[in-house]
Order: sequence, then C-alpha cells, then structure tokens
Amino acid sequence: MKTVSDINFKGKKVLIRVDFNVPLNDDMEVTDTTRIEAAKPTIINILEDDGCCILMSHLGRPKDREDEFSLQHVVDAATEILGVQVHFVNDCVGETVEEKVASLQPGEILLLENLRYHEEEKRGDKAFAEKLSKLGDYYVNDAFGTAHRAHASTAVIAEFFPENKCFGLLLASEIENVKKVLTDGQSPVTAIIGGAKVSSKITVLESILDPIDHLIIGGGMAFTFIKAQGGSVGGSLVEDDKQELALEILEMAKKKGVEVHLPVDAIIADSFSEFATTDDSAADAIPEGWMGLDTGPRTNEYFARVIKESNTILWNGPAGVFEMEPFAQGTIAIGNAIAEATANGAFSLVGGGDSVAAVKKFNFTDKVSYVSTGGGAMLEMLEGKTLPGIKALME
Ligand code: AMP
Repeated sequence: MKTVSDINFKGKKVLIRVDFNVPLNDDMEVTDTTRIEAAKPTIINILEDDGCCILMSHLGRPKDREDEFSLQHVVDAATEILGVQVHFVNDCVGETVEEKVASLQPGEILLLENLRYHEEEKRGDKAFAEKLSKLGDYYVNDAFGTAHRAHASTAVIAEFFPENKCFGLLLASEIENVKKVLTDGQSPVTAIIGGAKVSSKITVLESILDPIDHLIIGGGMAFTFIKAQGGSVGGSLVEDDKQELALEILEMAKKKGVEVHLPVDAIIADSFSEFATTDDSAADAIPEGWMGLDTGPRTNEYFARVIKESNTILWNGPAGVFEMEPFAQGTIAIGNAIAEATANGAFSLVGGGDSVAAVKKFNFTDKVSYVSTGGGAMLEMLEGKTLPGIKALME
C-alpha cells in the first residue's frame, strides 16, 4: 500500500480527496472538526515536502448550488486546524480554478468548492473526473468516509494517474486497523454488534463470524434473536421477517465455534420516551405493553466479563437507546469494559454507524485503540467488501 510517506512531493501539485463533510450550525460554523483533524497528517506531510495541496471534498447533499452546502464555510476551521491559510475557489473545475491552481506556490493549500455542486460527481462521470485530474500532478485519496462510493473524485479519477496515486495516511490507517481485527486479531476476538435492526447488520454478522471467538448481540436487534428462540419480547423492536435468518446466524456461529452472547435482562419502558415508566425484566419475558430499550444490569455484568477477557475487540452499534438518559447504561457499561480491556493491553476498534456517536457522547474516544471516521464505509469493510475508493488506488 503506497502512502504519501513513500513519495517526495517537492514542487508538485497534489490533488487530495478529503472528507470535509462536517456538520455546520445555523450560523454556518463547523460544530465537529474531527474529519478535518483526521486529514491533517496527510496534508502536513505534503506541505513539509514543499508540495502544495489542492483539497477536494463534498459537503452534504446539495440539489443545486445552495449556500448552506458551500465549503467556503469550512475555510476558517480548516485554516485554524492546519495552521496554514487555506485559500478557496468557488468551483472545482473550469478556467478560474485552473488559474488559481497554476499560481499556487509550494507550501500553500487551496480548497475547491463542493464537488456535489456538479451532479457528475455522484454519477462517477469520467469526463468530469478527467477535468478534476488536470488539477494535480499526483492524486491522493484520504477520504475514508466516502471510500465506499464509486464517485468521480473518490474512484474514477484514479485511472488518470496510472503511476502518481497513493493512499492518504488516514485511509491507510483505517485499513490497517480493520486488519488488526479481521485478519491479525489476537484471540479471544470479540465482536459487539448492537443498534436498531438486524437487517442493516446481517452481512456484517455473517462475514465476521470467521475471525471471531465471541459475538455479543445487543441493542434493538437482540430482540429478533430472542423472539426467534421462543422468547416473549412484548412491544420491543422486532423484525419478524428476519427471525429465520437470526436462527441461521446462530446455527452458523455454532458451526464455526463462535460463542454467542445475548442479553439476559432488559430495561423495559411503557413507551418510547425519556419520560416513560421503566422497570426491569428478563429479556425473554417482557410483558405486553412494554418494550426493551436497554440491556439490564445482569446483562451489563455478563457482557463486561466477556469483553474484559478479550484481547481483540470490535464494537459496532449501541446496546440501547443511548440518546435517552434512562436507556444509556448498557452502552456506557460496554464502553467502560472496553476501556478497561484496552488499558490492560487489548486492541479495540470502534466503528460504523452510531457507535462512534456513543463513544463521543460518553468520552470513550481516548480510551479505545481506534475510532473509525467512516460510518457506512466501515460497515462495508466489516462486510468484507473491497471499497471502490481503495480498489481504484490498487489498480
Ligand atoms: P444503528 O445505526 O443500526 O447502529 O442503530 C443505532 C440506533 O439504535 C440508536 O439510535 C439507538 O437508539 C437504537 N437502538 C438501540 N437499542 C434499541 C432498542 N432496544 N430499541 C430501539 N432502538 C434501539
């Protein structure tokens, strides 16, 4: 895997696909700079070589050229984080852009306007990718968050740089950290899969069984498994059409020697609300009119025991409706157990979907080994897929 560390960019113009798709508030200020910070090592590496950086990204889902999706709003935050003035140009292709790029000096950074102002970007249009490619001597992809998309700037463009293309440091490190679980994980390897629905995690569940020893299933999706095994789950979230599949997954796990751990008790509520009346119950004997919204105290201890005995841990998806205070304890207990295991030398990776939000909310970010920056992209990696953005750099 060739990365920016393997190339000397002196005097070169380097076109970098970053993921600056950051959240903005009503005043158009960046409210979470994680993605900009994550791209910093790659950008600084190139500037230190005396190269110049041309940054391209998307922001949100514009239909037209709405101002609220302009990357102009990201300039100040990026300048502050990178410690270098970020220049901006109000398009990503065309004459003005080419002129700006031509006048760029070593050590300078130019941020292009939102790629998705051009519908050709998402279509993966080849002519558009070729126009973009004219802007750089080298192409670097560091946008893990969109690496699962075959868009013009994330995949198609790579073919215009047969030699001069490489991985950014963030993209490379995301791949390496997934490998630490899926191929090089030191056993016992434990995967904790939670979240709302079985349907969104089926492929992950199926494909991670090979490298793991323990599978902990939490969150709403656990109730489909419990009901499929004959339990009563009241009004809990259940996908009835996935019960058969849940049993198949359990059977597959058994054949592969994976121990599956399901909740034994639950915090139940009489409505889906922070202000609901709550109680606890056996996870397979939830009365009608009640729904399980979190794992109960016995489950939390049980899961924590398995986690603390693991040497490699993957966490995807919360144990309960962690956004509501009364149903956050299961997710916090998992976070605490992973933090303890990590402090004792285990490798822990958190990624995909909402687990990252939970990790941030409860301040576990610095207590786990690696937090992925990609929701959908990480899920697809865990599903064993080769992401288009990664494939394009390897070809
Ligand atoms: P996902 O994006 O699939 O990882 O799902 C995350 C969402 O699952 C969060 O918004 C949680 O509130 C939700 N969730 C977790 N446990 C439950 C549950 N027992 N019932 C309903 N929703 C849940």
